[in-house]
Amino acid sequence: MQLEATVKANLGDAKIDVASHFILRAAYCRSEDLRRWFLTQEGYLFKHRLEFLPENALQAVLKKINLDKVPNAQKNALRESLMSIPGVTPGEFASTPYYAIPFTQALDLVANRSCFVADGLAYVALPKVVSILLAKFRTSLSRSLVLASAAFNHVEEEGRIAPLLKTMNSQYASNKNYTEQIVGENELTAANIDSMAANMPLCMSQTHAGLKRDHKLKHWGRLQYGLFLKGAGMSMEESLVFFQREFSKIMTAEQFHKNYAYNVRHMYGKEGKRTSYTPYNCQKIIMGQAPQGGDHHGCPYRHYDDQHLASLLQKMAIGTPAERGDILRLKRSNNHQLACVKHFEVMHPSASSVPNIDLDNLGNHPNAWFSASASYHAKQTSATTETELAAQVVSPEKMEE
Ligand code: SF4
Repeated sequence: MQLEATVKANLGDAKIDVASHFILRAAYCRSEDLRRWFLTQEGYLFKHRLEFLPENALQAVLKKINLDKVPNAQKNALRESLMSIPGVTPGEFASTPYYAIPFTQALDLVANRSCFVADGLAYVALPKVVSILLAKFRTSLSRSLVLASAAFNHVEEEGRIAPLLKTMNSQYASNKNYTEQIVGENELTAANIDSMAANMPLCMSQTHAGLKRDHKLKHWGRLQYGLFLKGAGMSMEESLVFFQREFSKIMTAEQFHKNYAYNVRHMYGKEGKRTSYTPYNCQKIIMGQAPQGGDHHGCPYRHYDDQHLASLLQKMAIGTPAERGDILRLKRSNNHQLACVKHFEVMHPSASSVPNIDLDNLGNHPNAWFSASASYHAKQTSATTETELAAQVVSPEKMEE
């Protein structure tokens, strides 16, 4: 906190913002996936900022890029044509400033008949100018990211910067790293894991289902799921019991001990470098190694195709068709983590009004999803039990009857 305050005092918010944008550009230029993710997030931020700018400030931005408001006299002369655009009411026409932009920069609006074109200029209402600015911003940022990607190869591997930039996308910013956390009142064990799987986010419940079906997990699946279980409070001993129980359905106990038990102990820091590894966050899973045939790791909202995800959600009876449609729309627009949050909201109605449930890192960490879901269901169960007990208490009047 002190460091943050010192940096702010010396640079100011705007400079920190600019510096962080360029640092992230360097960190997120390296692959198609990273570039797409960064473009989407920066696009949202850019649009949000423009939409919340007071009208005069937005007009000042447009002036800076040489876009001048159409003078009132000219606007009124074009009244009939501008009013013929679908959805424009007389009130909106009177209060909305218009801008004249080369029509080649507003092809989407021209195609949708959302502007009026004359003499090579598209006459666009102020709120629609934001979408043109956003398109320009995305095109320019996309080009810069590709250029930065070519330059990234020259960043020295051995220096201090390259390793920092290369791991930035998998860093988890929250101070909660879900190391050996106890979920609710129940410790996670080999005995209760099958019933607790109902509280897992889709990535982990799919890995669990894959393990139960195939009785094995490949390298990334073992890491993703093993560390998740560790973060959810499963002890190393219970983890060994659980994995041995499943793997032993297709191999002998000796083979399990020889080939896989070491991995489990390694995750808990009992072998090798003796580092106690932390569970993967959503960013790391989404940007990590994509699953291939026979793999069960990854994020379904990122790695499943639309049809596969749609039929899975239907099979699992997640929400209504409309709610599943909302989840799929978020997935299709590359908002994988928001799709996951929507899934949580659908399955845990009014969770935000249930006391003492931590919803902070939903969509950022699978363990946050699991922990919130387990607490939610524990509270629902105890509320039901209390109601049942209250119903069983016989009133004194009833006893006398
Ligand atoms: Fe799992 Fe995160 Fe993907 Fe949700 S968004 S399914 S928690 S990786």
